[in-house]
Amino acid sequence: MPIALGIETSCDDTCVSLVNERGQVLFNGAQNQDLLHDRYGGIVPELAGRNHSLYLLPLIEKALKIVSVNQIDVIGVTNRPGLLGSLLVGYVTAQTLGMTWNKPVIGVNHIEGHILSPFLWSKEKITEKQTLSNPSKISAEKPLISQAGKRSVISPEDSGTQILYPLLALIVSGGHSHLFYMKGEEEVFLLGCTLDDSAGEALDKLARLLELPFPGGPQIERQARGVLLPEKRFFSRINTKGLAFSFSGIKSAARRLIESHSPEWLKENQERLCAEYQQVIVSHLMEKLDLAFQLYPCRQVVIGGGVIANGLLRDSLKKWAFEKKVEWAVPQPSYCTDNAAMIAFAGIRQFLRGKIHLSACSPRHLEKDFFSRQILPS
Ligand code: AMP
Ligand code: MG
Repeated sequence: MPIALGIETSCDDTCVSLVNERGQVLFNGAQNQDLLHDRYGGIVPELAGRNHSLYLLPLIEKALKIVSVNQIDVIGVTNRPGLLGSLLVGYVTAQTLGMTWNKPVIGVNHIEGHILSPFLWSKEKITEKQTLSNPSKISAEKPLISQAGKRSVISPEDSGTQILYPLLALIVSGGHSHLFYMKGEEEVFLLGCTLDDSAGEALDKLARLLELPFPGGPQIERQARGVLLPEKRFFSRINTKGLAFSFSGIKSAARRLIESHSPEWLKENQERLCAEYQQVIVSHLMEKLDLAFQLYPCRQVVIGGGVIANGLLRDSLKKWAFEKKVEWAVPQPSYCTDNAAMIAFAGIRQFLRGKIHLSACSPRHLEKDFFSRQILPS
């Protein structure tokens, strides 16, 4: 079965993965740089790029203990969007390996990878000794995919083919808040995106104001756990037109609130603040998803990106999908944040569709993308 080597270095995570055409992850290696950037309160692009060049080759060496070079059919590499210095490390490495090994290299849009991330699945534990020649020895994990609101187990043979079109995809990460409608793999329409900051950025910002570690999303979720929300709220609902998102207003509201109160007040109200902030952000995302579903009825709704690791968002999606009787899919926790498995999967699917564009995969080649902008029906 065709196998792709995936390389992802668009931001601060160095990731290498091996995925087959069914979306089965054979190897998923990542080295994050959270501790390094934490002391600066956010990602420092120069440091991120330099560290990718330290971490990438050792991860590729690990992957090559799982399969040999001649078992790899194609290399998928994130070539957009992202920090240019970071992207270049992955891109040049992929091109060099492609030339040396005589393998095609496919440039993948990072967001396309996130859309496919719910369809990745993996064996429980892959050790360096387990090879592709004895895959039957390992039991498969359950992909988190619904059947009309109910969780179902999909057999390994079926995994990776459960994408149902038309579908709505919401991508919520540290860099993106994008809503797509897909009629098919090649017919992707951008319905809406953020007017300012992303959902992940807003969560990271509040954590920073509260002097909680980076990345902030999981910290906010931890603080919010078990908090009962009072009727009178610190933050009002986010109001935007159509299918556009906006998170800069709530960021500023949180900053003003924190600056205008004493440290004692803050200590007393920190958990409530986090819970309300998280609630408003999740409601905004779900409101737009619901509106998109009214305008573009679909068979399946998927959410990808780091913010879907959030329990409240996952639960809200499942509850909503159950009410609407629509199928949903979210990634397993290890494929929510940036990873190379989603890039390998997108790469191998393009490869199998015959989309090989060697010269077009440089990080500067941004003009042509995998999606078009959809004009909303009036
Ligand atoms: P990505 O850009 O896809 O790697 O996602 C990173 C973003 O996801 C950061 O903004 C994180 O704060 C956010 N994130 C990660 N885990 C959670 C969580 N449990 N709840 C909310 N946001 C999260
Ligand atoms: Mg991402």
